[in-house]
Amino acid sequence: MKGICVLGATGSIGVSTLDVVARHTDLYNVIALTANINIDVLFEQCLAHSPEYVVVVNAEKAELFKQKIKNSAVSGIKVLSGAQSLEFVSTLDNVDSVMAAIVGAAGLLSSLAAAKAGKTVLLANKESLVMSGDLFMQAIRDSGAKLLPIDSEHNAIFQCMPAGYVAGNSVKQARRILLTASGGPFRETAVKDLHNVTVAQAVAHPKWDMGRKISVDSATMMNKGLELIEACLLFNMSPDDIQVVIHKQSIIHSMVDYVDGSVLAQMGNPDMRVPIAHAMAWPDRFESGVEPLNIFDVKQMDFAEPSLERFPCLRLAYQAIKMGGIMPTILNAANEIAVDEFINERIKFTDIPVIIEKCMSFFTAEDAGSLDIILKADKDAREQSYKIIKEIT
Ligand code: NAD
Ligand code: MG
Repeated sequence: MKGICVLGATGSIGVSTLDVVARHTDLYNVIALTANINIDVLFEQCLAHSPEYVVVVNAEKAELFKQKIKNSAVSGIKVLSGAQSLEFVSTLDNVDSVMAAIVGAAGLLSSLAAAKAGKTVLLANKESLVMSGDLFMQAIRDSGAKLLPIDSEHNAIFQCMPAGYVAGNSVKQARRILLTASGGPFRETAVKDLHNVTVAQAVAHPKWDMGRKISVDSATMMNKGLELIEACLLFNMSPDDIQVVIHKQSIIHSMVDYVDGSVLAQMGNPDMRVPIAHAMAWPDRFESGVEPLNIFDVKQMDFAEPSLERFPCLRLAYQAIKMGGIMPTILNAANEIAVDEFINERIKFTDIPVIIEKCMSFFTAEDAGSLDIILKADKDAREQSYKIIKEIT
């Protein structure tokens, strides 16, 4: 029996994780669930999974949650609040696995705490890896933690690696990674029309049902940019050996090209319960609740090279990882601010890459040698992004 802590339980990945957990209560016991503000969903999850702890980061919502559970079937749960409580629950002694599914930089410290504590880290929160890069991978190595990728592409690549593969190691016989992308909702929109697209259009992903931030990232293809950086770190590859491939059917979730000419792909229906179940059962396998892939429904599979003119965010991500140091942190922070401003209808869709590029050019790629340097770079880039937004709007 393994104890699991689900960080970001109320989000899209968190909900899918608990769906998988519910199918395997003989193997997994929920120790802790965390949410930012969504206490209604959290309450239902507590009824179903009876965790020992919950964290409601927002203090007012935490008080409301305490009222809500008084005299209910879940009144025995310990309720904590504040961001530091995320680190506390992710390092509890009876927690073996931590699902890191908070969105954005807000997930960094708790993911890193789990890594340092030697937990099995099920990593969905790609932003934390992009920000902390080598520091995160070093924490995994130092503590002996296991790192299992949840992002569907990275989970696919992991599955295509040789038996016994450990994340962070390089495989010399693997010459290239083919990182697939759906291309998002604007794959075929005329470039001249992109400045007019709405938030509703941007979050309507054709293949995956996800949170709003990652949906906008998919529309700009910054999601693939972050995933490129994530892949460099997880598989110890150079960005020049990672080719992004637009595959609009989203049936193949990525591929590894070996020196003998073999190309291994992982396929499946586009449902995050597949990679979640893979990582939770690893090195075994168990049921995820996902319908079997009907190969006869897959009439065609297309592959195309992405246009960097249509998707400047992808170009910026290649640039950031090649520059190294704090530049991926800067890219991520500027993107988080720009996406948030777009979702709140204060900037246009096409302003997103402009803000990121201006922000990156303001900073130099100094060494990202410590957490303090990374956190300062994140803070400075956010401030700089707001200044740029003032200038351009
Ligand atoms: P979401 O917006 O649906 O959920 C985010 C979760 O994070 C919620 O539980 C929310 O309460 C919590 N949260 C938000 N802000 C917080 C804060 N400041 N402090 C603490 N908790 C906070 O997001 P999602 O789509 O589930 O994505 C989660 C992560 O997984 C992201 O990093 C995303 O890139 C990654 N991911 C998601 C998918 C997907 O299909 N949804 C696929 C691959 C990777
Ligand atoms: Mg992905």
